Amino acid sequence: MSDKLPDLIDPLMLAERRAVFNGVINVTALERLSDFVADSDGVVNVDAVFAKQGKRAVVSGSIKTQLKLECQSCLQDFPWPIDVHFKLAVVSSLQETDKLEIDAEPLLFDGEKLSFNSLIEDEILLALPDYPRHDYDCITRRSSQDRDYETQTTRSEADNPFSVLAKLKKTGE
Ligand SMILES: [Zn+2]
Repeated sequence: MSDKLPDLIDPLMLAERRAVFNGVINVTALERLSDFVADSDGVVNVDAVFAKQGKRAVVSGSIKTQLKLECQSCLQDFPWPIDVHFKLAVVSSLQETDKLEIDAEPLLFDGEKLSFNSLIEDEILLALPDYPRHDYDCITRRSSQDRDYETQTTRSEADNPFSVLAKLKKTGE
């Protein structure tokens, strides 16, 4: 038996219940992701299983979707399939992260309910490239006028929120 995707969750309680979820989240419901994609139509397919591993509450599952990103070179859309598996272990503090005894990413939970959508969104954002672009030379045919325009609109690493997120995640390992 699996339930509808929840929004606010208590991962400890769900792990005790061994809850299983599968369902879809509209891309439009994921605000940060919506800002990043060229087209926020479509849905994200999510499977999630809450369980205990030893005394540790863990949530694992998979995320599948097909996003449209805007190429930072030619500004045209291109498809970006997402098919990621995740395994998160619930920790109550950053100190606990250092002594995590199982092979999983830490999921900080302070006892308040946390947003399941936001958790899924973080995993998707980490699977996106810092600089979305075609994997071939797509601008050869562009005019110099267009290239001037690109220079103004290309994101720099400093203001790319996802490279920051990726760094945060790394330091938590
Ligand atoms: Zn391109």
